[in-house]
Amino acid sequence: MSGDSQIPNPAHIQADSMLARHFGRETVNYFSSSPLNRLSFLRSDHTFLSAALKHPSTRFVLMKDLAPLTRNPTEPYFAKYEEVRTLVPDTIYDKSEEDFLKEYDSRKTIAAPIFLGLDESHKQDGLAWKIYTGIPYFALDVTPSGSDEQQTHAKALISEVEAKGLIFLQGRTILSFPANEAAIYAQARALIDWNTRNRFCGTCGHPTISVNSGTKRACPPSDAALLAAGKPAERPACNTRTTISNLSFPRTDPTIIVAVVSTDAKRILLGRSKRFPPSFYSTLAGFIEPAESVEDAVRREVWEEAGVTLSRVVIHSSQPWPYPANLMIGAIAQVSDPAHETINLEHDPELEDAKWFDIAEVEDALRIGVAPLGEKPGPEYKEGGLRLPPPTAIANQLIRAAISLDFLDAEKAAKM
Ligand SMILES: [Zn+2]
Repeated sequence: MSGDSQIPNPAHIQADSMLARHFGRETVNYFSSSPLNRLSFLRSDHTFLSAALKHPSTRFVLMKDLAPLTRNPTEPYFAKYEEVRTLVPDTIYDKSEEDFLKEYDSRKTIAAPIFLGLDESHKQDGLAWKIYTGIPYFALDVTPSGSDEQQTHAKALISEVEAKGLIFLQGRTILSFPANEAAIYAQARALIDWNTRNRFCGTCGHPTISVNSGTKRACPPSDAALLAAGKPAERPACNTRTTISNLSFPRTDPTIIVAVVSTDAKRILLGRSKRFPPSFYSTLAGFIEPAESVEDAVRREVWEEAGVTLSRVVIHSSQPWPYPANLMIGAIAQVSDPAHETINLEHDPELEDAKWFDIAEVEDALRIGVAPLGEKPGPEYKEGGLRLPPPTAIANQLIRAAISLDFLDAEKAAKM
Protein backbone atom coordinates (compact mmCIF):
# COMPACT_ATOMS: atom_id res chain seq x y z
CA MET A 1 0.00 0.00 0.00
CA SER A 2 1.46 3.34 -0.99
CA GLY A 3 -1.28 5.61 -2.26
CA ASP A 4 -3.15 8.77 -1.42
CA SER A 5 -5.17 6.81 1.15
CA GLN A 6 -2.12 7.00 3.38
CA ILE A 7 -2.04 10.80 3.40
CA PRO A 8 -3.51 12.13 6.67
CA ASN A 9 -6.79 14.02 6.31
CA PRO A 10 -7.45 15.94 9.54
CA ALA A 11 -10.65 17.99 9.82
CA HIS A 12 -8.84 21.35 9.84
CA ILE A 13 -7.78 20.90 6.21
CA GLN A 14 -11.35 21.42 5.00
CA ALA A 15 -11.96 24.48 7.18
CA ASP A 16 -12.37 27.82 5.43
CA SER A 17 -10.18 30.73 6.51
CA MET A 18 -8.57 33.82 5.03
CA LEU A 19 -5.16 32.08 5.10
CA ALA A 20 -6.50 28.94 3.40
CA ARG A 21 -8.07 31.05 0.64
CA HIS A 22 -4.88 33.04 0.14
CA PHE A 23 -2.25 30.29 0.35
CA GLY A 24 -4.32 27.21 -0.54
CA ARG A 25 -5.04 24.19 1.60
CA GLU A 26 -2.38 22.95 3.98
CA THR A 27 -0.41 19.94 2.75
CA VAL A 28 -0.33 17.30 5.47
CA ASN A 29 2.45 14.78 5.04
CA TYR A 30 2.78 11.10 5.97
CA PHE A 31 4.02 10.54 9.57
CA SER A 32 2.42 13.85 10.65
CA SER A 33 -1.01 14.68 12.01
CA SER A 34 -1.06 12.04 14.74
CA PRO A 35 -4.48 11.14 16.17
CA LEU A 36 -2.93 11.29 19.65
CA ASN A 37 -3.20 14.22 22.04
CA ARG A 38 0.29 14.07 23.53
CA LEU A 39 -0.74 15.71 26.84
CA SER A 40 2.92 16.58 27.40
CA PHE A 41 2.08 18.32 30.70
CA LEU A 42 1.02 14.96 32.23
CA ARG A 43 4.29 13.13 31.50
CA SER A 44 5.61 13.69 35.02
CA ASP A 45 2.28 12.96 36.75
CA HIS A 46 2.83 9.45 38.07
CA THR A 47 -0.76 9.08 39.31
CA PHE A 48 -1.97 9.68 35.76
CA LEU A 49 0.71 7.45 34.20
CA SER A 50 -0.10 4.63 36.62
CA ALA A 51 -3.80 4.79 35.71
CA ALA A 52 -2.96 5.00 31.98
CA LEU A 53 -0.50 2.09 32.11
CA LYS A 54 -3.00 -0.38 33.55
CA HIS A 55 -6.20 0.77 31.84
CA PRO A 56 -7.88 -2.06 29.87
CA SER A 57 -8.04 0.08 26.70
CA THR A 58 -4.33 0.96 26.76
CA ARG A 59 -2.19 -0.02 23.76
CA PHE A 60 1.56 -0.53 23.50
CA VAL A 61 3.72 -0.11 20.41
CA LEU A 62 6.46 -2.73 20.84
CA MET A 63 9.82 -2.52 19.11
CA LYS A 64 12.79 -4.85 18.98
CA ASP A 65 15.96 -3.25 17.60
CA LEU A 66 13.63 -0.51 16.25
CA ALA A 67 11.57 -3.05 14.26
CA PRO A 68 7.87 -2.54 15.16
CA LEU A 69 5.64 -5.49 16.07
CA THR A 70 3.06 -6.06 13.31
CA ARG A 71 0.42 -8.48 12.09
CA ASN A 72 1.67 -7.80 8.54
CA PRO A 73 3.48 -4.94 6.73
CA THR A 74 0.32 -2.77 6.61
CA GLU A 75 -0.99 -3.49 10.11
CA PRO A 76 0.97 -2.68 13.26
CA TYR A 77 0.09 -4.75 16.33
CA PHE A 78 -0.78 -2.94 19.56
CA ALA A 79 -0.20 -4.97 22.73
CA LYS A 80 -2.27 -4.87 25.92
CA TYR A 81 -0.79 -4.26 29.36
CA GLU A 82 -1.28 -7.97 30.21
CA GLU A 83 1.20 -8.83 27.45
CA VAL A 84 3.99 -6.61 28.79
CA ARG A 85 3.46 -6.73 32.56
CA THR A 86 6.51 -8.96 33.22
CA LEU A 87 8.69 -6.21 31.73
CA VAL A 88 6.75 -3.27 33.16
CA PRO A 89 5.70 -3.96 36.77
CA ASP A 90 2.46 -2.24 37.82
CA THR A 91 4.41 -0.55 40.65
CA ILE A 92 6.63 1.33 38.17
CA TYR A 93 4.96 4.71 38.84
CA ASP A 94 4.43 4.23 42.60
CA LYS A 95 7.30 6.58 43.46
CA SER A 96 7.39 10.23 42.47
CA GLU A 97 9.91 11.19 39.82
CA GLU A 98 11.94 13.05 42.49
CA ASP A 99 12.22 9.93 44.69
CA PHE A 100 12.92 7.78 41.65
CA LEU A 101 15.96 9.96 40.88
CA LYS A 102 17.12 10.06 44.51
CA GLU A 103 16.93 6.29 44.91
CA TYR A 104 18.79 5.50 41.68
CA ASP A 105 20.65 2.17 41.79
CA SER A 106 22.74 1.30 38.73
CA ARG A 107 22.49 -2.45 39.57
CA LYS A 108 18.74 -2.44 38.91
CA THR A 109 17.44 -1.91 35.42
CA ILE A 110 13.81 -1.66 34.42
CA ALA A 111 12.06 -1.13 31.14
CA ALA A 112 11.04 2.49 30.56
CA PRO A 113 7.65 2.82 28.85
CA ILE A 114 7.20 6.01 26.84
CA PHE A 115 3.80 7.72 27.08
CA LEU A 116 2.80 8.81 23.55
CA GLY A 117 -0.64 10.31 24.20
CA LEU A 118 -4.37 9.74 24.29
CA ASP A 119 -6.48 8.84 21.24
CA GLU A 120 -9.47 11.07 21.98
CA SER A 121 -11.37 9.84 18.92
CA HIS A 122 -12.14 6.69 20.93
CA LYS A 123 -13.86 7.93 24.06
CA GLN A 124 -16.00 4.88 24.71
CA ASP A 125 -14.21 2.47 27.06
CA GLY A 126 -11.25 4.87 27.10
CA LEU A 127 -9.49 6.25 30.16
CA ALA A 128 -11.21 9.33 31.64
CA TRP A 129 -8.75 11.66 33.38
CA LYS A 130 -9.97 15.11 34.43
CA ILE A 131 -11.32 16.60 31.19
CA TYR A 132 -9.42 14.18 28.90
CA THR A 133 -10.88 10.88 27.68
CA GLY A 134 -9.40 8.41 25.24
CA ILE A 135 -7.23 5.37 24.66
CA PRO A 136 -3.73 5.75 26.13
CA TYR A 137 -0.78 4.76 23.92
CA PHE A 138 2.69 3.84 25.13
CA ALA A 139 5.83 2.76 23.29
CA LEU A 140 8.04 0.05 24.75
CA ASP A 141 11.46 -1.15 23.64
CA VAL A 142 11.52 -4.93 24.15
CA THR A 143 15.07 -5.42 22.86
CA PRO A 144 16.71 -7.63 25.53
CA SER A 145 18.99 -5.40 27.63
CA GLY A 146 19.81 -4.55 31.23
CA SER A 147 19.82 -7.05 34.11
CA ASP A 148 19.66 -10.81 33.53
CA GLU A 149 16.11 -10.86 34.87
CA GLN A 150 15.00 -8.08 32.52
CA GLN A 151 16.62 -9.80 29.54
CA THR A 152 14.89 -13.09 30.42
CA HIS A 153 11.50 -11.33 30.54
CA ALA A 154 12.17 -9.55 27.23
CA LYS A 155 13.19 -12.77 25.49
CA ALA A 156 10.10 -14.58 26.82
CA LEU A 157 7.86 -11.73 25.62
CA ILE A 158 9.44 -11.83 22.15
CA SER A 159 8.95 -15.63 21.92
CA GLU A 160 5.30 -15.31 22.99
CA VAL A 161 4.35 -12.67 20.41
CA GLU A 162 6.26 -14.43 17.64
CA ALA A 163 4.50 -17.70 18.54
CA LYS A 164 1.21 -15.87 17.82
CA GLY A 165 2.44 -15.24 14.26
CA LEU A 166 3.26 -11.58 14.86
CA ILE A 167 6.33 -10.13 13.16
CA PHE A 168 8.88 -7.49 14.15
CA LEU A 169 8.90 -5.76 10.77
CA GLN A 170 12.41 -5.14 9.45
CA GLY A 171 13.23 -2.43 6.95
CA ARG A 172 15.38 0.64 6.55
CA THR A 173 12.31 2.83 6.19
CA ILE A 174 8.77 1.59 6.80
CA LEU A 175 6.18 3.46 4.71
CA SER A 176 3.43 0.82 4.58
CA PHE A 177 1.20 1.68 7.57
CA PRO A 178 -2.06 3.63 7.28
CA ALA A 179 -1.74 7.36 8.09
CA ASN A 180 -2.81 7.32 11.76
CA GLU A 181 -0.76 4.27 12.70
CA ALA A 182 2.23 5.68 10.79
CA ALA A 183 2.17 8.87 12.88
CA ILE A 184 2.03 6.86 16.13
CA TYR A 185 4.84 4.59 14.90
CA ALA A 186 6.97 7.63 13.94
CA GLN A 187 6.70 9.12 17.43
CA ALA A 188 7.46 5.75 19.06
CA ARG A 189 10.44 5.03 16.83
CA ALA A 190 12.00 8.47 17.25
CA LEU A 191 11.74 8.35 21.05
CA ILE A 192 12.91 4.74 21.48
CA ASP A 193 15.89 5.44 19.22
CA TRP A 194 16.81 8.61 21.11
CA ASN A 195 16.60 6.87 24.52
CA THR A 196 18.78 4.02 23.23
CA ARG A 197 21.46 6.41 22.01
CA ASN A 198 21.53 8.55 25.17
CA ARG A 199 22.22 6.08 27.96
CA PHE A 200 25.22 8.10 29.10
CA CYS A 201 25.42 11.74 30.18
CA GLY A 202 26.87 14.01 27.48
CA THR A 203 28.58 16.11 30.16
CA CYS A 204 30.05 13.67 32.74
CA GLY A 205 29.83 10.34 30.89
CA HIS A 206 27.92 8.47 33.63
CA PRO A 207 24.71 6.51 32.99
CA THR A 208 21.48 8.53 32.67
CA ILE A 209 17.93 7.45 33.39
CA SER A 210 14.69 8.01 31.56
CA VAL A 211 12.28 10.49 33.21
CA ASN A 212 9.13 12.32 32.11
CA SER A 213 7.80 9.08 30.72
CA GLY A 214 10.68 8.59 28.30
CA THR A 215 10.83 12.13 26.92
CA LYS A 216 13.79 13.39 28.98
CA ARG A 217 16.91 11.82 30.46
CA ALA A 218 18.48 12.87 33.74
CA CYS A 219 21.92 12.36 35.32
CA PRO A 220 21.13 11.10 38.89
CA PRO A 221 23.13 12.73 41.74
CA SER A 222 23.79 9.48 43.60
CA ASP A 223 23.95 5.74 43.06
CA ALA A 224 22.95 3.19 45.73
CA ALA A 225 25.35 0.72 44.12
CA LEU A 226 28.30 2.92 45.17
CA LEU A 227 27.06 2.86 48.78
CA ALA A 228 26.73 -0.93 48.66
CA ALA A 229 30.37 -1.11 47.52
CA GLY A 230 31.43 0.82 50.65
CA LYS A 231 31.88 4.17 48.83
CA PRO A 232 30.03 7.48 49.20
CA ALA A 233 26.72 7.31 47.27
CA GLU A 234 27.30 10.64 45.50
CA ARG A 235 28.33 10.44 41.87
CA PRO A 236 30.92 12.95 40.59
CA ALA A 237 29.65 16.52 40.21
CA CYS A 238 27.92 17.15 36.90
CA ASN A 239 27.00 20.52 35.41
CA THR A 240 23.71 19.14 34.13
CA ARG A 241 22.47 19.10 37.75
CA THR A 242 23.34 22.71 38.54
CA THR A 243 22.11 24.66 35.54
CA ILE A 244 18.69 25.29 34.15
CA SER A 245 19.43 22.93 31.23
CA ASN A 246 19.64 20.08 33.70
CA LEU A 247 18.23 17.45 31.40
CA SER A 248 18.77 15.97 28.00
CA PHE A 249 15.88 16.33 25.55
CA PRO A 250 15.07 14.32 22.41
CA ARG A 251 16.69 15.54 19.22
CA THR A 252 14.98 16.78 16.10
CA ASP A 253 17.34 17.48 13.21
CA PRO A 254 15.95 19.99 10.70
CA THR A 255 16.52 19.15 7.06
CA ILE A 256 15.55 21.06 3.93
CA ILE A 257 14.06 19.42 0.87
CA VAL A 258 13.23 21.43 -2.21
CA ALA A 259 11.51 21.32 -5.59
CA VAL A 260 13.29 23.83 -7.82
CA VAL A 261 11.40 25.59 -10.62
CA SER A 262 13.17 27.06 -13.68
CA THR A 263 13.03 30.76 -14.57
CA ASP A 264 10.28 30.14 -17.16
CA ALA A 265 8.42 27.80 -14.73
CA LYS A 266 8.36 25.08 -17.41
CA ARG A 267 10.90 22.68 -15.90
CA ILE A 268 11.90 21.40 -12.47
CA LEU A 269 15.29 20.36 -11.15
CA LEU A 270 15.68 16.83 -9.75
CA GLY A 271 18.71 14.84 -8.71
CA ARG A 272 19.68 11.25 -8.03
CA SER A 273 22.04 9.71 -5.51
CA LYS A 274 24.14 6.64 -6.24
CA ARG A 275 21.95 4.44 -4.03
CA PHE A 276 18.78 5.12 -6.08
CA PRO A 277 17.60 2.49 -8.58
CA PRO A 278 18.05 3.34 -12.30
CA SER A 279 15.90 6.26 -13.59
CA PHE A 280 14.84 7.22 -10.03
CA TYR A 281 15.12 10.96 -9.35
CA SER A 282 13.96 13.08 -6.42
CA THR A 283 14.07 16.56 -4.96
CA LEU A 284 17.34 17.86 -3.50
CA ALA A 285 17.77 17.73 0.28
CA GLY A 286 20.28 18.36 3.05
CA PHE A 287 20.75 19.23 6.72
CA ILE A 288 20.28 22.77 7.95
CA GLU A 289 23.54 23.96 9.50
CA PRO A 290 23.93 25.92 12.75
CA ALA A 291 23.01 29.61 12.38
CA GLU A 292 21.35 29.13 9.01
CA SER A 293 17.79 30.03 8.00
CA VAL A 294 15.65 27.50 6.16
CA GLU A 295 15.79 29.67 3.03
CA ASP A 296 19.58 30.06 3.22
CA ALA A 297 20.00 26.30 3.68
CA VAL A 298 17.87 25.66 0.57
CA ARG A 299 19.98 28.06 -1.52
CA ARG A 300 23.27 26.65 -0.19
CA GLU A 301 22.35 22.98 -0.71
CA VAL A 302 21.09 23.48 -4.27
CA TRP A 303 24.20 25.45 -5.21
CA GLU A 304 26.57 22.92 -3.54
CA GLU A 305 24.92 19.84 -5.02
CA ALA A 306 23.82 21.11 -8.44
CA GLY A 307 25.59 24.43 -9.01
CA VAL A 308 22.22 26.16 -9.54
CA THR A 309 21.70 29.62 -8.01
CA LEU A 310 18.23 30.20 -6.53
CA SER A 311 16.34 33.38 -5.81
CA ARG A 312 13.00 33.15 -3.98
CA VAL A 313 12.37 30.24 -1.61
CA VAL A 314 8.85 29.52 -0.31
CA ILE A 315 8.33 27.14 2.59
CA HIS A 316 5.61 24.68 1.57
CA SER A 317 5.02 21.99 4.22
CA SER A 318 6.98 19.73 6.53
CA GLN A 319 7.29 16.04 7.36
CA PRO A 320 8.56 14.25 10.46
CA TRP A 321 10.95 11.55 9.27
CA PRO A 322 11.84 9.17 12.11
CA TYR A 323 14.99 7.76 10.47
CA PRO A 324 16.25 8.62 13.00
CA ALA A 325 15.18 12.13 14.03
CA ASN A 326 14.66 14.39 11.05
CA LEU A 327 12.13 17.09 10.37
CA MET A 328 11.99 17.58 6.61
CA ILE A 329 11.13 21.19 5.86
CA GLY A 330 9.80 21.25 2.32
CA ALA A 331 10.21 24.24 0.05
CA ILE A 332 9.56 25.33 -3.52
CA ALA A 333 12.21 27.61 -4.99
CA GLN A 334 12.81 29.35 -8.28
CA VAL A 335 15.75 30.51 -10.37
CA SER A 336 15.44 34.15 -11.49
CA ASP A 337 17.89 34.15 -14.43
CA PRO A 338 18.42 31.42 -17.08
CA ALA A 339 22.18 31.92 -16.65
CA HIS A 340 21.79 30.57 -13.09
CA GLU A 341 20.26 27.28 -14.31
CA THR A 342 23.54 25.71 -15.48
CA ILE A 343 24.13 22.45 -13.63
CA ASN A 344 27.53 21.80 -12.07
CA LEU A 345 28.05 18.62 -10.03
CA GLU A 346 31.68 19.33 -9.21
CA HIS A 347 31.34 21.42 -6.03
CA ASP A 348 30.01 18.66 -3.76
CA PRO A 349 30.02 15.23 -5.43
CA GLU A 350 27.00 14.02 -3.45
CA LEU A 351 24.72 13.55 -6.45
CA GLU A 352 25.37 11.13 -9.28
CA ASP A 353 23.24 13.28 -11.58
CA ALA A 354 20.98 16.34 -11.58
CA LYS A 355 18.73 17.33 -14.47
CA TRP A 356 16.02 19.76 -15.54
CA PHE A 357 12.82 17.85 -16.41
CA ASP A 358 9.96 19.17 -18.52
CA ILE A 359 6.70 19.34 -16.61
CA ALA A 360 4.96 16.92 -19.04
CA GLU A 361 7.55 14.21 -18.31
CA VAL A 362 7.17 14.77 -14.56
CA GLU A 363 3.37 14.58 -14.83
CA ASP A 364 3.69 11.23 -16.62
CA ALA A 365 6.07 9.93 -13.97
CA LEU A 366 3.72 11.02 -11.17
CA ARG A 367 0.98 8.99 -12.86
CA ILE A 368 2.87 5.79 -13.72
CA GLY A 369 6.37 5.90 -12.23
CA VAL A 370 5.97 6.34 -8.46
CA ALA A 371 7.03 3.69 -5.95
CA PRO A 372 9.08 3.50 -2.74
CA LEU A 373 12.82 2.92 -3.23
CA GLY A 374 12.67 -0.86 -2.78
CA GLU A 375 9.53 -1.44 -4.88
CA LYS A 376 8.63 -1.42 -8.57
CA PRO A 377 6.21 1.10 -10.17
CA GLY A 378 2.86 -0.11 -11.56
CA PRO A 379 2.28 -2.07 -14.83
CA GLU A 380 1.96 1.09 -17.00
CA TYR A 381 5.55 2.07 -16.25
CA LYS A 382 8.01 1.47 -19.10
CA GLU A 383 11.64 0.62 -18.35
CA GLY A 384 13.88 3.69 -18.67
CA GLY A 385 11.10 6.19 -17.91
CA LEU A 386 11.45 8.69 -15.06
CA ARG A 387 10.71 7.23 -11.61
CA LEU A 388 9.71 9.37 -8.61
CA PRO A 389 9.17 8.83 -4.84
CA PRO A 390 5.70 7.76 -3.58
CA PRO A 391 3.07 10.13 -2.08
CA THR A 392 4.19 9.10 1.42
CA ALA A 393 7.42 11.06 0.80
CA ILE A 394 7.27 14.85 1.02
CA ALA A 395 9.39 14.93 -2.17
CA ASN A 396 6.36 13.69 -4.12
CA GLN A 397 4.08 16.37 -2.60
CA LEU A 398 6.62 19.11 -3.39
CA ILE A 399 6.97 17.97 -7.00
CA ARG A 400 3.16 17.94 -7.36
CA ALA A 401 2.92 21.44 -5.91
CA ALA A 402 5.78 22.80 -8.02
CA ILE A 403 4.24 21.67 -11.32
CA SER A 404 0.61 22.41 -10.47
CA LEU A 405 -0.89 25.27 -12.41
CA ASP A 406 -2.70 26.34 -9.27
CA PHE A 407 0.55 26.95 -7.45
CA LEU A 408 2.19 28.61 -10.44
CA ASP A 409 -0.71 30.66 -11.73
CA ALA A 410 0.16 34.22 -12.72
CA GLU A 411 -1.06 35.85 -9.54
CA LYS A 412 0.71 33.44 -7.20
CA ALA A 413 3.87 33.21 -9.33
CA ALA A 414 4.14 36.97 -9.05
CA LYS A 415 4.32 36.58 -5.28
CA MET A 416 7.16 34.05 -5.35
ZN1 LIG B 1 26.20 13.95 34.12
